Amino acid sequence: MSGHVLRVGNIEVIELLDTPMAFPFEAFFPQQGPQPFEAYRQLYPGAYSPDGRFQTYAQAYVVRAGGRTILVDTGVGPGPHDWLGGARGRLVDDMQEKGVRPEDIDIVVFTHLHGDHVGWTLQYEAGSPRPTFPRARYYVPQADWDFFTDPSRVGQWGTDRTIVPLKDLGALELFSGEVTLADGVTTMPTPGHTPGHTSILLASLGERALICGDLAHHPAQVDQPSWVPAFDTDGAQAAQTRSRVLDMLESEGLVAVFCHFPVPGFGRVVRLEGRRVFRAL
Ligand SMILES: [Zn+2]
Repeated sequence: MSGHVLRVGNIEVIELLDTPMAFPFEAFFPQQGPQPFEAYRQLYPGAYSPDGRFQTYAQAYVVRAGGRTILVDTGVGPGPHDWLGGARGRLVDDMQEKGVRPEDIDIVVFTHLHGDHVGWTLQYEAGSPRPTFPRARYYVPQADWDFFTDPSRVGQWGTDRTIVPLKDLGALELFSGEVTLADGVTTMPTPGHTPGHTSILLASLGERALICGDLAHHPAQVDQPSWVPAFDTDGAQAAQTRSRVLDMLESEGLVAVFCHFPVPGFGRVVRLEGRRVFRAL
């Protein structure tokens, strides 16, 4: 592996950074607050901002497998974003700098429909939406479609502008359960963060990796899976899923990919001095 590229057998994963983000620990993890995170600062310096906030990142991944090019999530979007102090996403620029053009993307698959994962899906010209990745089919977890397009929630996360128009544009594919997107690329339901939250399992030539989406946000959660961020829709289910999948990642030795962990988010879940840790590749 070199830098932003991970190889899993014949599959290639390219990390894309849309933007760094920082939030007060007490806002993101209201049940814990900042204090318990101190014990993990030395282990994960990239997950703490200089002013003591939770330093995180909006990343997405291009997966090249079996002749297909798949984009996993589309970041926070172009912005500028008031909720990020005016930051602008640069996912499409980063993609092109790393050798992938928007028209190369065959499939966009969403781990879930929160605003930091769907932002570059559509672009608007004179009020009309068009897909940013013009050739792609857009795979949306059915349970998230149902949840986030419910009239009571559709405005909350902006899905009325970022996701719902995909239907009329004829680019939408709703899916449930395990679906094969390309040779060695399969969706895996990991609900809790959202009802349809999905991880992407990669398998090739005896090697395996899991793109975990928002299964965890801060690497301290690898050791403390019961720490639940404010944004987990069902906190108890999310903690249970997190525990189960982390057990699998540790016992089966998969490479784990976490889009909110320090760039590029590639690592392994291992035991070190009695703690379970995320060892970055
Ligand atoms: Zn997220």
